[in-house]
Amino acid sequence: MDLTPSLLRALTDGTFEAWVVAQGQPPFRRKQVERWVARAATDFEQMSDLPASLRATLKRDFALRSSRVIRHLRDADGTEKLLLEWPDGARIEGVLLREGHRRTICLSTQVGCAMGCVFCASGLEGLERNLRSEEILEQALRLVECLDPQERLSHVVVMGMGEPLANLDALLPALDWMASPRGFGISARRITVSTVGLPGAIRRLARHSRPYRLAVSLHAADDTLRARIVPVSRSTGIASLLEAVDDYFRATGRRLTFEYVLLGSINDRPLDARRLARLLVGRTALVNLIPYNPVPGLPYRTPAPTAVRRFREILEEAGIEVRGRKRKGARIDAACGQLRRRSRDGREILSTGGGVE
Ligand code: SAH
Repeated sequence: MDLTPSLLRALTDGTFEAWVVAQGQPPFRRKQVERWVARAATDFEQMSDLPASLRATLKRDFALRSSRVIRHLRDADGTEKLLLEWPDGARIEGVLLREGHRRTICLSTQVGCAMGCVFCASGLEGLERNLRSEEILEQALRLVECLDPQERLSHVVVMGMGEPLANLDALLPALDWMASPRGFGISARRITVSTVGLPGAIRRLARHSRPYRLAVSLHAADDTLRARIVPVSRSTGIASLLEAVDDYFRATGRRLTFEYVLLGSINDRPLDARRLARLLVGRTALVNLIPYNPVPGLPYRTPAPTAVRRFREILEEAGIEVRGRKRKGARIDAACGQLRRRSRDGREILSTGGGVE
């Protein structure tokens, strides 16, 4: 295994600055290097405005990438998906979405997931490990590498594999670099963290210096049903989750998004919609309705379009703003965790991949 220190780590933990000074280099060299990193340079040799000697020292002291692209899939709708493998064999997925001028990357924060949401592919085999800051950043850069030269990254959503709020220590330095002018320079308003709803961690995020957007995966408006679909919510309860969410709103002024995955005949009844409307009315919130993307081997179904329409109408009649998430990348298993699972089932075939399909 390559033990060369990661440059991305040195950038996210702030030690790169000291390295530049120790080399007797002027501080602007740091900026030059970071500009190349943000533009997804994959080799120090590309950093053409640095002296050759500095490029050589950088190469000696740091690695720029440590993942291998195992699969690179491209859907006709412009969605691209990468399956990355780390030196320890852990695999994760990241997605690039194109819509109008928007270029959004969707990031994973953990290998597997411990939350156990019953319908989700990512958590079926539990949590393998957390990703480190430099791995979260490298995943983002791998996706930025997929952009054409005239395209610019505009949004980041942390909605891939894993529970971001169970790995905040690693996530925040990576997002902070992406948000800062040293990195991608993307406003915190354009960075969304999606959570199953861990109240303690929501409050910690509310105190963070950068007000990222928060999306809460609610999926049910009463405790009994939610406990069935989202087992970790058993110990919390919806009331205390909403208290934390209200604190987040007060601290950041950011409108909240509630995600609601519609599972046919389970949480898609008019009664469920009315309960949800009662729960959210009066809050500055947006509901994102997501028809279930079936996972092979799981018994859940996508609801009938009429059920989705009815659900949406009930919320709208109550004055709640609703957005229906379009399904993107359906042909390339873009729903989190699906490609990784499939790749394990047929590892030997898939690991020969690497080209865009
Ligand atoms: N752990 C975070 C991020 C997970 S993925 C969270 O729970 O929010 C982001 C969203 O995708 C979540 O709302 C999750 O419930 C949803 N999701 C997971 N699997 C899905 C599937 N098969 N179909 C539709 N949505 C799914």
